[in-house]
Amino acid sequence: MLNIRNILKWVPNGIRHVKGANSPHNILLSCQRNTLSHTATGSPTSLYFLTDEERMMKEFVSRLAAEKISPLVRKMEEESKFDPRVTDTLFESGLMGIEVETEYGGSGLSFFTSIIAVEEISKVDPAIGVCVHIHNTLVNALIRAIGTPEQKKKYLPMLSKSVTGSFCLSESESGTDAFSLRTAAKKEGSDYIINGSKMWISNSDIAGLFIVMANANPSAGYKGITCFIVERNTPGLSIGKKEDKLGLRASGTCMVQFDNVRVPESNILGEVGKGYKYAAGYLNGSRIGIGAQMIGIAQGCFDATVPYTLERKQFGKKIFSFQAMQHQIARVATEIECARLLVYNAARLCEAGQPFIKQASMAKYYASEVAVTTTAKCIDWMGGVGFTKDFPQEKFYRDCKVGTIYEGTNNIQLNTIAKYIEQDYSA
Ligand SMILES: Cc1cc2nc3c(=O)[nH]c(=O)nc-3n(C[C@H](O)[C@H](O)[C@H](O)COP(=O)(O)OP(=O)(O)OC[C@H]3O[C@@H](n4cnc5c(N)ncnc54)[C@H](O)[C@@H]3O)c2cc1C
Repeated sequence: MLNIRNILKWVPNGIRHVKGANSPHNILLSCQRNTLSHTATGSPTSLYFLTDEERMMKEFVSRLAAEKISPLVRKMEEESKFDPRVTDTLFESGLMGIEVETEYGGSGLSFFTSIIAVEEISKVDPAIGVCVHIHNTLVNALIRAIGTPEQKKKYLPMLSKSVTGSFCLSESESGTDAFSLRTAAKKEGSDYIINGSKMWISNSDIAGLFIVMANANPSAGYKGITCFIVERNTPGLSIGKKEDKLGLRASGTCMVQFDNVRVPESNILGEVGKGYKYAAGYLNGSRIGIGAQMIGIAQGCFDATVPYTLERKQFGKKIFSFQAMQHQIARVATEIECARLLVYNAARLCEAGQPFIKQASMAKYYASEVAVTTTAKCIDWMGGVGFTKDFPQEKFYRDCKVGTIYEGTNNIQLNTIAKYIEQDYSA
């Protein structure tokens, strides 16, 4: 079976990642991932340095995406839904439990390997990329970090093997201002009754488990926000119709309705009233995953385009040979490289427990802008055929636009970056 754990058996122990010290920062505001041994010698090196484990993950996912996802991309796009063979492959191959400890049936790998997996999948289909990203870097990550031993034992094996997760924060009236959310959780005995409605929830069409932010004490404002684990079959939970979107069409984005949904107290994830900290903290780290999705899109589109410019002739010459083309192609290649370095750097910092929030915002902001310009340029370089569905460029172009919107719009990333610049210069 194509499974990342079978392949990693061949990695020498010394080169595999080591379980590292916890972040020196507040657990709630850090990623709290496994820490990598940076190099065999510990000396600084290129951001492109990959451990054997990371390199094998890259090769493994690249092959899996080419063999198992690529043939189904157009069909899934047209039908606006995932082919179950793809989700089965993701679970069977260990890609839905990348960081989950092996004792819970996960792959026991590092945060950086999950970033590489999202990048490689998004080169082929960013809709699958975002599913893997949310499932691993938000849902699994939260349960691993703040779940009780019982919650981990119950949920991590299913999330690694068969059940897709969703992260429910946004509502129709609370997007950027996420913590003004209205979904309420009222205590009744030892249960909580959840009422409200979430909007834009990725994976919700196929998810079996939802991480839900609801306010358990509205009088305390955002300090009442509490995080709940809600199973799909809980009475009162229903999924609305899919949004008819510009891109990522195979990824189901739906409203999730909570109508007197009763959950036991034991389904509170973390502490009552700390939901806003968990959401903000983990979105900081998961933003790096969106950066990875965006560099995957940009690289995938670029890779599909440059060979065409080397073959297509006009005026008796390859279109690549015109200097006007070469300069544009070189500029875009440089921008993709910059974006990747930002994403990898933020991931390395996050994983090492170093401050990373400014870098994560820069990575998500820049990578999404680069994906937008790269895909637009690639269509230009293809000429008329780039505007048709016979070639992948138009899909990449549509798929990447949401990168400037979700997990904090780019205005908000710029706010965060500016906040850190102000701090740096106000000392
Ligand atoms: C395809 C898709 C998938 C998604 N998946 C999920 C998911 O799985 N879970 C989830 O919880 N959410 C999800 N979202 C929601 C997403 O995170 C929100 O759409 C996003 O946070 C923006 O919120 P909004 O759409 O309400 O826009 P608004 O908040 O209304 O923003 C509109 C505009 O106003 C600007 N703006 C707002 N406030 C400020 C400010 N203070 N300063 C400067 N500019 C500002 C914004 O930058 C933006 O340009 C998804 C969205 C999409 C489109």
